[in-house]
Amino acid sequence: MDRRRIVMGNWKMNKTPGEAVELVSQLKDGINTDKLDVVVCVPFVSLADVGRLIKDTNIKLGAQNMHFETSGAYTGEISGLMLKELGVEYVIIGHSERRQYFNETDQTVNKKIHKALEYGINPIMCCGETLVQREAGVTMEKIRMQVKRGLQGLTPRQATKIVVAYEPIWAIGTGRHATANQAERVCAGIRCVLSEIFDEPTAAKMRIVYGGSVTGNSAKTLFDMDNIDGGLVGGASLKADFENIVNC
Ligand code: PEP
Repeated sequence: MDRRRIVMGNWKMNKTPGEAVELVSQLKDGINTDKLDVVVCVPFVSLADVGRLIKDTNIKLGAQNMHFETSGAYTGEISGLMLKELGVEYVIIGHSERRQYFNETDQTVNKKIHKALEYGINPIMCCGETLVQREAGVTMEKIRMQVKRGLQGLTPRQATKIVVAYEPIWAIGTGRHATANQAERVCAGIRCVLSEIFDEPTAAKMRIVYGGSVTGNSAKTLFDMDNIDGGLVGGASLKADFENIVNC
């Protein structure tokens, strides 16, 4: 199955709007987007400026979260409708940092995914196990639950718009990435879960990526695996190394 590869940068709460413009201006000239999709998930306050800057390129604009309602009394929140108007094409949903610090649950993840799709925004749904869960041998149980609950109620057609990001929590921001075999085993497991939820042809079309301390040195071995269609990159997306990851 020929799935188009995708590499996404998750900037988290880094870079002011001015710094964001500077970083994306450099990035624009250094990366080749002919063979893969490249997405920059920047802070909300930089979406408009970065969106203008990449308008005539193949780099796509991504957000890091959104609310599951369209508008209303939700102080401090941002809706899919607002993101859509700014040209956002991808949105990260259910990142482990949001689950840990902002009470994101599989239920809110599911509602957000439905809402993002309503606006034609492609959700990047994150899942992953803690070190304790990995050591207890329950990695796949945890992932299965997150994926099944997160994607509940979607049609196969909607499912093909989703990117599933396998991000072991012990690998995020730690400098310790999963080995290619560890990551491939879980990503292959996710594809099986997707074919149980939807069907085999749908699962074969869906993109599954790995995230967790990916660098220019580790990217190629990870992305060469059969069930890993690219990466979600945190720390390294803020540096010139992102170009090495994309171009590898
Ligand atoms: C992330 O936060 O999605 C991530 C993968 O971070 P890092 O690459 O820094 O581990």
